[in-house]
Amino acid sequence: MNSINQEFLNFLQHSPTPFHAVTNMASKLIDNNFQKLEERDSWDIQPGRYYVTRNQSSIVAFVLGEKIPLETGIRLVGAHTDSPCLRVKPNPVIRKHSYLQLGVEVYGGVLLNPWYDRDLGLAGRVTLAKGSAIHNLLINFNSSVGVIPSLAIHLDRGVNDSRSINPQQHIPPILMQADDEETIESILLDQIHKEYGDSENGRILGYELSFYDRNPPAIIGLQDEFIAGARLDNLLSCYIGLQSLIDAGDQSLCILVCNDHEEVGSTSASGALGPFLKSVIERLIPDTETRHRVIDRSLLISTDNAHGIHPNYDDRHDANHGPILNQGPVIKINANQRYATNSETEAFFANICEQQEIPFQKFINRSDLMCGSTIGPLTASEIGVKTLDVGVPTFAMHSIRELAGTRDSDYLLRALTAFFSATEVPGALSWV
Ligand code: ZN
Repeated sequence: MNSINQEFLNFLQHSPTPFHAVTNMASKLIDNNFQKLEERDSWDIQPGRYYVTRNQSSIVAFVLGEKIPLETGIRLVGAHTDSPCLRVKPNPVIRKHSYLQLGVEVYGGVLLNPWYDRDLGLAGRVTLAKGSAIHNLLINFNSSVGVIPSLAIHLDRGVNDSRSINPQQHIPPILMQADDEETIESILLDQIHKEYGDSENGRILGYELSFYDRNPPAIIGLQDEFIAGARLDNLLSCYIGLQSLIDAGDQSLCILVCNDHEEVGSTSASGALGPFLKSVIERLIPDTETRHRVIDRSLLISTDNAHGIHPNYDDRHDANHGPILNQGPVIKINANQRYATNSETEAFFANICEQQEIPFQKFINRSDLMCGSTIGPLTASEIGVKTLDVGVPTFAMHSIRELAGTRDSDYLLRALTAFFSATEVPGALSWV
């Protein structure tokens, strides 16, 4: 099997926001004979390949196989499209000492330090009005337009021991040295005209724009061991899930769900605690009794990155559970249900890996550290499906540049492709 990594890097570079990620996923699905559905239309679904989006930032893609779902159950893979970032405020312009800066909100659990001294781009969704009609436009300032310069060490001698960052005061990026005329609307309209010409004029009534690192993702390491890039959490899982669905067979019902808003708790119409996935399943299997029976025969693999043990900070891990990069996907376990894995679902995934000769690892947090969470437990609670949480081990989660292993993405792809391609009820492999 060819490595997925180069294609993934290309996807990652062109997906600075969830809106762009979903757009790029959709166009790859179209290229692979998936048909777009609209939630507002009535659906007459025959066996085949389909996808539907919500808010332009969440996507459900599925293959409805030849066999009825009661025979095969549903094979689900989940991931999330959003990543921690800096989001431009509604009235963002700040002028100080000749500089024009933009005030930003911190979206999710951003590791703030690495945002300093980066060449920042700006991208997202702008909503415009032309007359009384309103429409959305995805934009990308695909040039380095912002920077958050560090304070020089000479002005803060204790910086390496104790610099804390106040996001209100210390984080607004500098965009330019500007006269007094610039407003956020004029800055955005200038860029829109540059990208699209005069056809996209209109009044800007709203936007969701985020800064991102313009440094492209790369394969690094003396032996090309590592993938370095922003948003590996969790676009890596989205892309691997997408490719495995495209490679799925045409027998079972297979679903990929990638939700927005995981980094801020998932409570939204398009988040994992919203009704998006549930409504798709209800439309595919309208009869309540049948649906409940199918769900009991189904399984969700929730994919989101794990913490690899860091050689400089290995005391942050339980000594017996320190996943290592390039040694296989990690099954994530937490007794307090921060992860949805149980012994059955864990065994199911381990069994797939053993059959495919894929190495795998297990992660549990130190008992004195609060455990993170992801969409697995939330989706399990929403639709009642057996679930496990897995992911590739990474360093620097939520940094502006994270690190994963080049071999792990291929291992996970093989595991998910094997999962999607099988035809028996998922449960039957590990429990009867
Ligand atoms: Zn994540």
